Amino acid sequence: MNTGCGDRVVVVGAGIGGMAAAARLAKDGFRVTVVERNDQAGGRARIWQTGGYTFDMGPSWYLMPEVFERFFAHFGKTTADYYELKPLDPSYRVFAGPGEHHDIPPDRAGVRALFDRLEPEGGRKLEAYLADAAYKYKVAVGEFLYRDYRTVLDFLNWRMMTEGLKLNVLGKLDAAVRKQFGDRRARQILEYAMVFLGTSPNDAPAMYSLMSHVDLTQGVFYPMGGLSAVAQGMRRLAEEQGVEFRFSTEAEKIVTANGRAICVQVRGADGGRASLPCDAVLANADYAHVETDLLDPADCTYPRRYWEKRVVAPSMFLLYLGTTKRLERLAHHNLYFQPDWNTHFDAIFKRPAWPEAPCFYVSCISKTDPGMAPPGRENVFVLVPVAAGLEDSDDVRDAYARKVIRHVEQVTGEEIAPHIEVQRIFSHRDFAGDYHAWKGTALGISHTLRQTAVFRPSLRSRKVRNLHYAGQYTHPGIGVPMVLIAAEVAAENLRGDLGGKE
Ligand SMILES: Cc1cc2nc3c(=O)[nH]c(=O)nc-3n(C[C@H](O)[C@H](O)[C@H](O)COP(=O)(O)OP(=O)(O)OC[C@H]3O[C@@H](n4cnc5c(N)ncnc54)[C@H](O)[C@@H]3O)c2cc1C
Repeated sequence: MNTGCGDRVVVVGAGIGGMAAAARLAKDGFRVTVVERNDQAGGRARIWQTGGYTFDMGPSWYLMPEVFERFFAHFGKTTADYYELKPLDPSYRVFAGPGEHHDIPPDRAGVRALFDRLEPEGGRKLEAYLADAAYKYKVAVGEFLYRDYRTVLDFLNWRMMTEGLKLNVLGKLDAAVRKQFGDRRARQILEYAMVFLGTSPNDAPAMYSLMSHVDLTQGVFYPMGGLSAVAQGMRRLAEEQGVEFRFSTEAEKIVTANGRAICVQVRGADGGRASLPCDAVLANADYAHVETDLLDPADCTYPRRYWEKRVVAPSMFLLYLGTTKRLERLAHHNLYFQPDWNTHFDAIFKRPAWPEAPCFYVSCISKTDPGMAPPGRENVFVLVPVAAGLEDSDDVRDAYARKVIRHVEQVTGEEIAPHIEVQRIFSHRDFAGDYHAWKGTALGISHTLRQTAVFRPSLRSRKVRNLHYAGQYTHPGIGVPMVLIAAEVAAENLRGDLGGKE
């Protein structure tokens, strides 16, 4: 039943959050148009194709599979209707220093045996740690993630008060892990995932130990065709619900009257301008960009100085490499942790600079999905988390690329440089240029305690009544599953505001 408020929704941005919310709203009977400045769907989960290689440009870890299933189930579908999932074995490989690596097995017994090798009683301690992580995960998914926090009181409810201590909401992850594990490699395996949340383990709330439940208990999956296959699946599903996509179309202004958005002004691929009348707007584009560039200052919930004070999540120095040989020493997902990784985290969060001998992540999706590279070649994605806001001129980037490749060679023992036939660098200025990312951040704002739940930018504008937000800047935060959750909550909010259709 429509209450007469109108049913036209404009979604700004075809990232995972925008598409997920658009599909839900179209299913509810709204007329939904998605405008996207780039020429393809997926946002950060786009692809780049060249010379027979298909690179996932952004996300590559498929975690929390039940969140994806829940999304597709809402439409009476399963993920298998849109893409094929493969469990990875090993889940990932960790390089602890030149000549030393450990494979993380997909099964609990295997991980337990690994921790026993890393430190005395390691397996027993791991079991206790993972039991606690499973509990936190269950409470988080069941009670804290799929909801909107409008006031601090929503957050500090009775359940949070009673569970808060058990969840260790106020403690820090690194301190909690140190109390239980002596071996630095064991600790790093339990803490590295904080980089996924754009924060340092020293500053991440201890309740994020739930991430170990995600990678060590639930396992790591790969969607054939890459993470972009997920984005393509979501686009198809959205179109099946009736969503209209307009690519290469930039939103330039959200026009308001009497505290409501009345239209979105856009510039199309041909440079022509148009005005899209709307009854509500769902903004999926980078939050800071929408607030500071698309709205009049009087309509901003968060002025520029608010963004200046946020702890910005890292940017990323990315290399997409095609090599003329297979890299035999690498697995599908590979991580390198320096012995003293605080020097790297400090270079991101405390004294912004290009890390000298950085921790890094390398994925070779062609190991699982040979179609992503020409025969006999490897599709290589190198990621170094770096501080947002660094200068990345051509000279700086080229020199850093050489340094990173040399470093990857030294750590993995694999010769790479002479075999590169395709190379593309993607860094700060690309995030800013392609996505309007604040300070060139890859991930939005960090998950520090003060930027968690009710303390993240709101899912709804406080100034423009029919303007809603869904994306990695909002609660619950960074990562494809989190953004899917935000989309569900934001779509529900919008539907409630417009008195949605039954
Ligand atoms: C390199 C990298 C690796 C990552 N790895 C993982 C991983 O392994 N697993 C994981 O779960 N997550 C990972 N993440 C995080 C995850 O990709 C993001 O959290 C998520 O994709 C963000 O989705 P979103 O919908 O919030 O925003 P986005 O994907 O940024 O989508 C927003 C869209 O809005 C568009 N837009 C911006 N301004 C305008 C405008 N004015 N008009 C029209 N359109 C506009 C942008 O072009 C973009 O398409 C990674 C991110 C990066 C960058």
